[in-house]
Amino acid sequence: MPKDTKNCRILEPEFECMSREELEALQGKRLHETVVHAYNNVPMYKERMDALGVTPDDINSIEDITKLPFTDKPDLRDHFPDGLFAVPRSEIVRVQGSSGTTGKPIVSGYTQNDIDVWTDMVARALAAAGCTEEDTVQVTYGYGLFTGGLGIHQGASKLGAMVVPMSSGNTQRQIMMLKELGATMICCTPSYATLIGETVREMGIDPSELKLKSGCFGAEPWTAEMRNNLEGLMDFNALDIYGLTEIGGPGVSFECMEKCGLHVNEDHVIAEIINPETGEHMPDGVTGELVFTTITKTGQPMIRYRTHDLCTITREKCACGRTTARMGRITGRSDDMIIVRGVNVFPSQIESVIVGIEGVAPHYMLIVDRQNSADTLEVQVELKEELFSDTVSHVEELRNRMTEQIKSVVGVTAKVTIVPPKTLPRFEGKARRVIDNRKL
Ligand code: ADP
Ligand code: ZN
Repeated sequence: MPKDTKNCRILEPEFECMSREELEALQGKRLHETVVHAYNNVPMYKERMDALGVTPDDINSIEDITKLPFTDKPDLRDHFPDGLFAVPRSEIVRVQGSSGTTGKPIVSGYTQNDIDVWTDMVARALAAAGCTEEDTVQVTYGYGLFTGGLGIHQGASKLGAMVVPMSSGNTQRQIMMLKELGATMICCTPSYATLIGETVREMGIDPSELKLKSGCFGAEPWTAEMRNNLEGLMDFNALDIYGLTEIGGPGVSFECMEKCGLHVNEDHVIAEIINPETGEHMPDGVTGELVFTTITKTGQPMIRYRTHDLCTITREKCACGRTTARMGRITGRSDDMIIVRGVNVFPSQIESVIVGIEGVAPHYMLIVDRQNSADTLEVQVELKEELFSDTVSHVEELRNRMTEQIKSVVGVTAKVTIVPPKTLPRFEGKARRVIDNRKL
């Protein structure tokens, strides 16, 4: 898919293209204000800072951030539902909640300011994907506590686009609406977008009959191979968008048409990459855990929130003109990592192997088990319809190729099982591709 760079808009160049010095000065000032607000209004932050002997007066520049304590998901659970609100409840206008991929749900409280900030962040992301008031945006993320649906809805509305608030599910109907209303953009998880793309093909619709030109896909990790596959299916530009409820929702960072990393909305959040073991900063370009501090949120500010998402960061200026830091693709959440016979395995590594192989469908499941006290990893994959009836020796050759490549990329020997077309689960929201029977 050729990059549609001419339609990639920079919505707020005064922030997105700031010089590093100006940006860091702004971040330092906003960090100080956020820390004062959190210290004075949220007992947890006061207690933790007092315990470290740090006061808000000690935090005046972004370098000072390392003096501050981390926060983590259990803090949100321990203070559920409103123990981290930094304003009276009357000023909270919305709660959104995590979809609960891992463990119990958590909520985040938003003031009107926070909703406005979040809306701006999403609007920037959609503008980077070419969205204007001329566009029709089909929102196929779920609506509800999950931030995906409402987040994209608000951002697209701010740009004056026509929004089709479909929510997720009912794939045939999604496609009928895409066709009838002529959506030019669609936003959902990349796994659901893939299912929609496959269904479009199965229904005998040529993607050129649709008007789609781009989409922002996120809420789960996906690989470059998955993007290529999706762009091939739908003939549009598939861009990555990242976010998490605790920090605001989608739009924390987003890809531009250069497709070389996700621009962090750094005037609203400070991103750090740390060594998850020691908490120390990692140099740019080295994979570590992402940590975010919100610097414009008032309802539930988050200070040094550990995301458990792993990626790299670069601060080099992008060809699009933006100067904001770019995150590499999330290679996985540390929570998703499976340890098989002592080796760390991320589903995205397996995905990059499978989706790159001709004839293999972009769907897979990983099944981990323990037999005779040794871990086993089974990778279930589907062949595309046209290959399924292929010769046994060809299928065998594909299986061997996948086994070898998985071994070389991941470092463990997996049992590759080929299952009939369309028998593996499909996902309308976040995909769940690991079944770990060891924990049962
Ligand atoms: P949950 O923790 O229940 O999944 P959220 O809906 O807030 O809660 O999802 C946030 C998480 O989703 C992130 O921390 C990250 O792991 C994942 N995520 C969101 N967007 C992306 C993306 N573009 N690429 C990879 N992972 C993503
Ligand atoms: Zn860019």
